[in-house]
Amino acid sequence: MTLFPLFANLDGRLVVVVGGGLVAERKVTALLKAGARVRVGARAFTTTLRQLAASEAISLSTGEFQPEWLQGAWFIIAATNNRDTNRRIAALAEEARCFINVVDDPELCTVQMPAIVDRSPLMIAVSSSGNAPVLATRVRERLEALLDESLGVLTALAGKHRHTIRRLRPGQPQRRQFYDWLLDGPVAAALRMRQPTQAEQLLERELEHDTSSPLGKVTLVGAGPGDPGLITLKALHALNTADVILYDRLVSTQIRALARRDAAQVSVGKTPGENHDATQKRIHSLMLHHARAGRHVVRLKGGDAFIFGRGGEELEFLRANGVQYEVVPGITAAIACAAYAGVPLTHRQYAQSVRFITAHSATESDALDWHSLAAAKQTLAFYMGVSQIRQLAGQLISHGRSGDTPFALIENGTRSDQRTLTGCLRDLPGIVAESCPKAPSMLIVGEVAAFANTLHWFAARTEQREALVARE
Ligand code: SAH
Repeated sequence: MTLFPLFANLDGRLVVVVGGGLVAERKVTALLKAGARVRVGARAFTTTLRQLAASEAISLSTGEFQPEWLQGAWFIIAATNNRDTNRRIAALAEEARCFINVVDDPELCTVQMPAIVDRSPLMIAVSSSGNAPVLATRVRERLEALLDESLGVLTALAGKHRHTIRRLRPGQPQRRQFYDWLLDGPVAAALRMRQPTQAEQLLERELEHDTSSPLGKVTLVGAGPGDPGLITLKALHALNTADVILYDRLVSTQIRALARRDAAQVSVGKTPGENHDATQKRIHSLMLHHARAGRHVVRLKGGDAFIFGRGGEELEFLRANGVQYEVVPGITAAIACAAYAGVPLTHRQYAQSVRFITAHSATESDALDWHSLAAAKQTLAFYMGVSQIRQLAGQLISHGRSGDTPFALIENGTRSDQRTLTGCLRDLPGIVAESCPKAPSMLIVGEVAAFANTLHWFAARTEQREALVARE
């Protein structure tokens, strides 16, 4: 079951709570805070509930449950300790098309109460859809720790100036920029220091600034290899402040899901076989178009933008066109795949250097200096299309690298479907023909690759092949 999250306006609306114990009392307190009119029905009531009734904050119905109690309710909460009564109330609510929450009984609920972080008027609700309320509570605790108390005051301040902000920052991008500044800048800082007057002055002063010629910019962001846990805090910030995201094919959907909801996401991925130069031109013109319109463009690339990502060309283009830019590095596939496969890329005994090599096409691999690549005591990390793999092994061996040299081939590195194949160079073509690895795959060649057999820790177990290099 997927629940639809919403926040209800109960101001002045009747809510009926059945049950007069401590649980009911807690619900009543929350309902009164939201301005609801509350009627409580039960055989007996806590002292607090009786006091509330005495001060006319709520009304009471005393005795056995009566269906009439529910009349006129917008929302019902059943908090009796009798499951049959709760069930009856739930059935009546259903009949009256009225939402109901039955305390501790998700099956009878048409509405569930979330765990909340209250920074009124900012309110954060967390729900596990009834699966694990304890987990929702844990998440709530973490958010409590993360969000400063002053966030509520900041939200109220933004609310107070909302219309002025709208008037003085009519364009979406400028308005977003203003809110970013509000959340990250001196106003929030002043509020954290409990200086509300100064905060408000700062806000008003900033609003008077002229922003008639908006300045867009491009942030070139490395999204890493796939696991969303591997993006940097700066990348996350960029995704949260972007107006437009131009993303490559290799960027995982989980990472794109971290972006600000209303950022436009445009796929600009290059697919094999298509004209890459035309695609690159399109990317350039999209960046320019959006930046000139004052937007924050995030150019999101798999791994790191400066490793086989044409990031350099994009910056040259932006510079030539006077567009402001920033670069956020990402974890490149070789580093990430090695880590997730248990392969240390360098090792005091086996490898003093590591090389990142690309060989996506036959022309690219023809141009490689195979002689130097075949030298011992170095690790080779190949960024390549799977069709190139066979030929790579042959070239290395014919230029003098031992056929016993271990390799690790990591498919879908860092993703839940990661698979690692290991063996020695001589057997590589056969293993590839048999196991049919798919793109994206990373080939690591060198003595260190054998560690994948012993140090692996993530996802599918390494498929070990015979003829591993002898180790003393
Ligand atoms: N800029 C990227 C590389 C782009 S080239 C980076 O820094 O990682 C694309 C190649 O990277 C793919 O053909 C594949 O060899 C490798 N690659 C990218 N992501 C990968 C992943 N999750 N697992 C294995 N290989 C990957």
